[in-house]
Amino acid sequence: MPSPRNVIIIGSGPAGLTAALYAARANMQPLLIEGIEAGGQLMLTTMVENFPGYRDGIMGPDLMEEMRTQAAKFGTETIKGDVVKVDVCSRPIIVKTADAEYTATTLIIATGASARLLGLPSERTLMGHGVSTCATCDGYFFRGQEIAVVGGGDSAMEEAVFLTRFASKVTIVHRRDMLRASKIMQDKARANARIEWLLDHEVEEIKDTGKGEVTAMVVRSNKTGARREVPVHGVFVAIGHTPNTALFRGQIDLDQNGYIVTHDGAKTSVAAVFACGDVQDHIYRQAITAAGSGCMAAIDAEHYIDKLPEHLAAV
Ligand code: NAP
Repeated sequence: MPSPRNVIIIGSGPAGLTAALYAARANMQPLLIEGIEAGGQLMLTTMVENFPGYRDGIMGPDLMEEMRTQAAKFGTETIKGDVVKVDVCSRPIIVKTADAEYTATTLIIATGASARLLGLPSERTLMGHGVSTCATCDGYFFRGQEIAVVGGGDSAMEEAVFLTRFASKVTIVHRRDMLRASKIMQDKARANARIEWLLDHEVEEIKDTGKGEVTAMVVRSNKTGARREVPVHGVFVAIGHTPNTALFRGQIDLDQNGYIVTHDGAKTSVAAVFACGDVQDHIYRQAITAAGSGCMAAIDAEHYIDKLPEHLAAV
């Protein structure tokens, strides 16, 4: 049986790759398991203009390639598989993929959160080409245009209000006539003259996949069944996120929405296990905040190892 790794990192978005970079530069020889959605949510975006250091912007997939190359340069070993099982309470920690089993002294969880999608084929095709799941990231591209936000929760209200800074009109499309959002967020949205409402409606299709850009959405009234086409240049899907924490349920403390609870930096409820990025952050959800928390996780893991009796004995 090979000796345990110092650290295994699960997930390869900005959080996981930054953790890998810092762990590698701290001589911890990290093993990074990429997961199915290698590169994370930035692989679904086009131009990223708010990551410091790229004054002309950088395409999301290119930014991830830069991070991957930088982490590899300092000795990160990367495995393409997806993790199917973990045991965070055994010592060493056990991580299994479909093909192999690995052990480690510390674990960094950077499995992210997936934006919930409507499930329309056109939504997938036009993602990053007029369809977005992040107003902070993409709002700027819709200056002076008419756009839509789908959803009736706090995120939809917040994104719609934010997007009125850029768009000439924001139509909120919600499937019921009652909003789920808190009253204060509803009031803010209702008071905004640039916001229009399409309640009791669902988006059935986003056009135009042939042109590779958003030109309109087809909505259906849930009351009458009537369909109509509404011209828009962008569709922001804000129907919630699902943290990728199924592997850890019952082993690590999660909050009521399934996000990993962290404290004092990147520490979780289990010693030697750290979490970073969107899997533990439902507020900021930015590439830069994910990267920052990845750095924290690597430093926390390094400090944890430094304090182990066997490490102290060896120095
Ligand atoms: P959420 O509260 O779960 O709301 C999701 C919304 O999307 C609901 O209105 C839901 O409709 C709709 N929806 C879900 N699936 C849909 C589908 N397939 N098709 C059409 N519509 C769909 O999610 P969230 O707004 O992202 O908020 C998540 C948590 O973060 C909440 O606790 C929220 O309070 C918090 N949050 C707080 C703030 C803030 O305070 N500033 C900002 C953002 C988020 P139904 O209502 O019909 O189910």
